[in-house]
Amino acid sequence: MVLGKQGAGKGTQCVRLSHHYVVPHVSTGDMLRAAVKQGTPIGQKAKDLMDRGELLGDELIMEMVAERLQESDVRARGFVLDGCPRTVAQAEELAGILAPFDLDLAIDIEIHTTQVLRRLAARRVCVDCGANYSLSSPPLINWTCDVCGGEVVQRQDDTEEAISRRLELYEIQTAPLIEWYRSRNQLESVPGTGSPDSVTRRMVKVIEIRRQRGSGFG
Ligand SMILES: [Zn+2]
Repeated sequence: MVLGKQGAGKGTQCVRLSHHYVVPHVSTGDMLRAAVKQGTPIGQKAKDLMDRGELLGDELIMEMVAERLQESDVRARGFVLDGCPRTVAQAEELAGILAPFDLDLAIDIEIHTTQVLRRLAARRVCVDCGANYSLSSPPLINWTCDVCGGEVVQRQDDTEEAISRRLELYEIQTAPLIEWYRSRNQLESVPGTGSPDSVTRRMVKVIEIRRQRGSGFG
C-alpha cells in the first residue's frame, strides 16, 4: 500500500510498482471514475458527493475496495493499493478484510509541501480517464490524452489555496495512520524527491530489503 500527499507522485509510482512486480494496481480513484462513468449505484452516490465538493465516506470506499480485493487476479498475485486507507478506521477495516493475511508493507512517499505546490501548479489531468501530465511532460499531441484521447486540462481545484487546504486535511488525517502502521512494523518511508525513476528505485529497494528479512511477504 502506498501513502503520499497529493503531488507526491503516488499514482505514478503505484503504476510503476504494479508493472515491476506484475500485480494489479488497485486504485480507489480509478475505481470511482469507472463507477461514475458506468453509472453504477456507488458511482451515482460518489458523483453526487463529489459535485458538492464533499469527501466520500469510509463506507462507500471500503465497500468498493472489499469487492475488488476478492477478485481472482488479486487473490492470485497480490496487489498495489492506492488511495486507501486514508484513516485509521479504514486501516482497521482493511486489516479485517485481508485477514487471515495482512498487508506486507505501507510505503510513505515523503515530500515537502512547497515542492508539492510547485508540482501541482504544473499538473494537468485527463478529464476522461484521470491520467496525469504536467507542463514539463505533456501528452504527445496538443493536450489530448495519450491513453484515451480525452481532453487534458488543469483541474479547477488546483489553486494554491485549495491545494494548501487539502494538504492540511491530509496531514491531520494521515499522521495517525502513519503512526498506526509504524507501530505494527509495516511502515517504510522513502523521499519523493528527484526523478520518478529514482523514487521507484527507492521503493523497490525497501520492498526487497523487507522481502529478504522475510517479514510477512509470502
Ligand atoms: Zn485519458
